[in-house]
Amino acid sequence: MTQFLLPEFRSQFPILQQVINGYPLIYCDNAATTQKPIPVIQAVASQLEHCNANVHRGAHHLSANATTLYEQSRDKVAAFINAPAREQVIWTKGTTESINLLVATIGMQRISKGDEIVISVAEHHANIVPWQQLAQQCDAKLVILPVDESGRIDVEKSLPLVTEKCKFLSINHASNVLGKVNPIQSLFSKAKSVNAITVLDAAQTVAHLKIDVQSLDVDFVVFSAHKMFGPAGLGILYGRKALLDAMPPYQFGGEMIKKVSFECTQFNEIPHKFEAGTPNLTAVIAMGACIDFLSSDQYQQALQYEQDLIAYAYQKLNQVKGLRWLVTKSPDLPIFSFTLSSLHHQDLASYLDSKGIAVRSGHHCAMPLMQYLQLSGCVRVSLAPYNSYQEIDTLVQCINQFVNEDFSAAAIADAQQSELVKIPMSDSTEESHGAMNLQWQQLRQKFSRAQGWDAKHREIMLLGKALPRMAKSERSDDILISGCESNAWLKIDEANVDGFSFVADSDARVIRGLLFIILIASENKTPQQITRLDFEPLFAELGLMQHLSPSRGNGLLAIVKRIKELAGSQA
Ligand code: PMP
Repeated sequence: MTQFLLPEFRSQFPILQQVINGYPLIYCDNAATTQKPIPVIQAVASQLEHCNANVHRGAHHLSANATTLYEQSRDKVAAFINAPAREQVIWTKGTTESINLLVATIGMQRISKGDEIVISVAEHHANIVPWQQLAQQCDAKLVILPVDESGRIDVEKSLPLVTEKCKFLSINHASNVLGKVNPIQSLFSKAKSVNAITVLDAAQTVAHLKIDVQSLDVDFVVFSAHKMFGPAGLGILYGRKALLDAMPPYQFGGEMIKKVSFECTQFNEIPHKFEAGTPNLTAVIAMGACIDFLSSDQYQQALQYEQDLIAYAYQKLNQVKGLRWLVTKSPDLPIFSFTLSSLHHQDLASYLDSKGIAVRSGHHCAMPLMQYLQLSGCVRVSLAPYNSYQEIDTLVQCINQFVNEDFSAAAIADAQQSELVKIPMSDSTEESHGAMNLQWQQLRQKFSRAQGWDAKHREIMLLGKALPRMAKSERSDDILISGCESNAWLKIDEANVDGFSFVADSDARVIRGLLFIILIASENKTPQQITRLDFEPLFAELGLMQHLSPSRGNGLLAIVKRIKELAGSQA
């Protein structure tokens, strides 16, 4: 094997050359989705340019070509996971749909009152909610396996929980938060001994470990293409042939039929039985290129490098003052989840974003795990073999800067000195920007002076410091607005007898800063005016539009919606 050359490997990912908020992009959100290499990008473009026709339908040239490529991708995936036969590979929309398919078909077939479905406490919502709903419908029970302090399923405590009542054991190969590979083999053996069906959620491991479905001796394996450098909107369901054959279809229409009359329908064989409607053929065809990429010598070398990267990142992050790991010991996959003492995870994530570093914060679609760990959320840094040591150094340097960031006496005094003076507007029927109050004008000056996204971010954080906190007892659930990454509380200020205003708070300082801005924008307005107020141009004026983006998990749009609802209730 030749030596792994990071620059060469990295150059296959054009997106990594981007500059974000004035800084070179450092992408550390690979557990959410990986970036795409040139061969996958080219396969998408080439399918659309040269080979676009519906598959399994037309007799014409284009359709025949598209179908050949489409089925070749199935062969490649089957070989990649060592499936005994190609028809055991079913295309779905993603891991989530693969699990939903199982629940709706074999789940409905096999679960009845009193049965048990066993999952672990560290599952992604996609491997909790479908089973939970099935259990509720069928009067069955969801049994939850614990994890030990290292973050792996605790085998000793778990084996006795897999009993004769267990009909399904559905667990992740590695959690998207904890990054530890689970001891699945002994759990699967126990499940087999009680005739339970085994399901492996390999969404996080498939890009990092060899998945051999035959040596794992597992009934079903599910994963998503987009987490393994492939296209989004495509998932894989591998299943044991006898089980797939006996399962009813999941959806009806298109290629899943053999023969239809108004009286009855004869279903197609697997895999087509489960592939109703026009599939995401562009993604499937590009998946062939993705599997070639993952099967290359270069990628095998990349995986060796990844092991060194994990050790390096763990050791570097370990040196950050106040960093607390969720679990003990270095992760097996490049997934690092932690909290920082007394600093909110969303504040760190938004700070890093202002430096061009993409990490994820929040509950990571694993709310029950967060409850188990008694956390409101955490920061997750997840790497891929295109990340460099230098990027880790920059990341750690930025986290240290944030930890030591001076939201200190001097900076706060500065914020308070320029504290926004409250002066009522002369004519509050006018809603144009010109008529915004003096506080708004001061805000505008502040933000126009702050050049660059990181400077604006700092201003927001300082405003966050200046927003008076609500008493803990006031932050009740009935006024709570939950975002993915933080909580906010908002209510009408009943103490304000002269006018109409709100009080608000959040556990994340960055959200408190944004709330402050929203409160100033709605200051001295009647409820009617607030219901008509367009916050978008106001945020645009401050250069903060990205905070109103629907893609943000910060719940700001929900806050704006709630403000309008509350105002509407008084109008
Ligand atoms: N399971 C795990 C372990 C995951 O990490 C994810 C994605 N974060 C999913 C399931 C759901 O995958 P998708 O959104 O691609 O369906």
